[in-house]
Amino acid sequence: MEINGRTRTCGLIGHPVEHTLSPVIHNTLAGLMGHNIVYLPFHVESGRVQDAVKGADALGLLGLNVTVPYKSEVIGCLEEIDPLARKIGAVNTLVRTEGGYKGYNTDMEGLYRAMTSEKIKIAGEQMILLGAGGAARAVAYLCALKGAERIYMLNRTLDKAQEVAAEVNHGVDKEVVFPMLLSEYGSIPNGDYLAIQGTSVGLAPHVEETVISDRAFYEKIHTGFDLIYNPWETKFMQYVRECGGRAYNGLKMLLYQGIIAYELWNKVSVSEENAQIVYERLKAYFTQKG
Ligand code: NAP
Repeated sequence: MEINGRTRTCGLIGHPVEHTLSPVIHNTLAGLMGHNIVYLPFHVESGRVQDAVKGADALGLLGLNVTVPYKSEVIGCLEEIDPLARKIGAVNTLVRTEGGYKGYNTDMEGLYRAMTSEKIKIAGEQMILLGAGGAARAVAYLCALKGAERIYMLNRTLDKAQEVAAEVNHGVDKEVVFPMLLSEYGSIPNGDYLAIQGTSVGLAPHVEETVISDRAFYEKIHTGFDLIYNPWETKFMQYVRECGGRAYNGLKMLLYQGIIAYELWNKVSVSEENAQIVYERLKAYFTQKG
């Protein structure tokens, strides 16, 4: 794509941003779909988020993604916020409007599209959710809204899980999320669970780590989904597979949260064929590393 006087800019704000794969997603889509846009990473120092959003608005940036650690802080810089993003308390996508930016959370819908594409069912499932951070909060909302029967939310810090559980249960007006201390995983009733790994444990370079290494825990899991995608196969995924379950990493979630942002910015729908092309390009970063 030739950059010229009509090129529109989108980008990512975060700290750090050096390892992001989002430019691969958006610049590939722009090329495939013939849109005259370019996507760039912008490293924003702490305390400068408001300046960054104001500056982006003044420069006419079409849209921004927001990553760690600014997904909550950025809410104070918005003209408008999507009701679901407000409920989740985290925004990862800003869309330009007349008066400023409107904030959305595409992580949750991205995870849903990823799970759908892997034919993972949520409705009626007994679930285990590891973690109670920003991503796990979105997962808990998604699964409660999509009809999970019961979700055991395990976290190292119990009060965070209690806080998220109370919010989500209130949001869906039903007792679905049950907070637990991570170390008490042994008291989860026997059953056949869909488990989602939403902590940051096991992320490269700490690839040998996992929050639980007891095989008895993994025997209860029929499907494990790790939000982490680097490494390609986490320890959590390895244990799930070794105990007979299916396991998936978070790369498709990353792909689809990006695609949804792209669709919002450009008011288009991305075909599954184009999604697959971008996915193969992303996957090559992990599988061809040697
Ligand atoms: P976060 O808000 O910082 O939450 C981190 C979570 O990990 C908390 O529950 C924290 O527990 C737990 N944790 C951290 N270190 C731990 C340890 N040593 N032992 C036990 N628990 C520990 O992070 P986040 O934004 O939710 O992200 C979580 C993970 O999801 C990251 O790996 C991120 O890369 C991934 N993610 C993937 C996608 C995707 O598109 N695939 C999107 C978003 C996030 P405490 O509450 O006790 O501190």
